[in-house]
Amino acid sequence: MADAIISMKDVNKWYGKFHVLRNVNLEVTRGERIVICGPSGSGKSTLIRCINRLEEHQQGSIVVEGIEMTNDLKDVEAIRRDVGMVFQHFNLFPHLTVLENLTLGPIWVLKTPKAKAEADAMKYLERVRIPDQANKYPGQLSGGQQQRVAIARSLCMAPKIMLFDEPTSALDPEMVKEVLDVMVNLAQESGMTMLCVTHEMSFARKVADRVIFMDKGEIIEQNAPDAFFDHPQNERTKLFLSQIL
Ligand code: ADP
Ligand code: MG
Repeated sequence: MADAIISMKDVNKWYGKFHVLRNVNLEVTRGERIVICGPSGSGKSTLIRCINRLEEHQQGSIVVEGIEMTNDLKDVEAIRRDVGMVFQHFNLFPHLTVLENLTLGPIWVLKTPKAKAEADAMKYLERVRIPDQANKYPGQLSGGQQQRVAIARSLCMAPKIMLFDEPTSALDPEMVKEVLDVMVNLAQESGMTMLCVTHEMSFARKVADRVIFMDKGEIIEQNAPDAFFDHPQNERTKLFLSQIL
């Protein structure tokens, strides 16, 4: 593809003898927004974790921003700089304030001067609508607020690609919307390439260019959201959708 920012070709991965990714082929264009869904254990997390080398694949090739994923640490570092990730369980540093969580990477990794890092951090906290929480510790915030801090923290590293792994599934129901709203806003205003593992169909319909369905380590079906949800083709997709909708 002409402007592919991520290109996975015939990717296979095993955990020991367990074949977790089977001939995965995925090309993502710059600015594209992809939602990945599928049953628990189908390999969704593994797939996106291969994109920033939190997991290693054994066969096939993964190219991110023109850099092929190899064991060369320089390449891994370069790719990680371009790829931000938000996890189900926030992963904030509990002993650092919100502002310190946000400025740690920019100051130590990007060598941004502290004052600039703090000004940037405040800008992103405004974007996720919690500038008033800057001096609190993660434990003093609600789950929804902590997840928005985690999103802001990723944005502070100025990534080109954002990966989200079920960012709302650990949240109480009343906090899901505030996090999804922030993500919708990010998708619509930033033009950033986003891959999001989620079963939030309203989010997928609102922002996704493409929905990908995985089962047993394979990409089974993919389509634009309306076509995907209204006219699924594969029996396994139909079964899955009938269980979550
Ligand atoms: P999903 O995110 O779709 O729920 P995962 O990618 O987390 O699926 O996992 C796919 C399968 O691989 C699951 O059966 C899981 O138990 C297994 N698995 C995940 N991580 C590991 C690991 N580090 N070692 C062994 N098996 C793993
Ligand atoms: Mg998962």
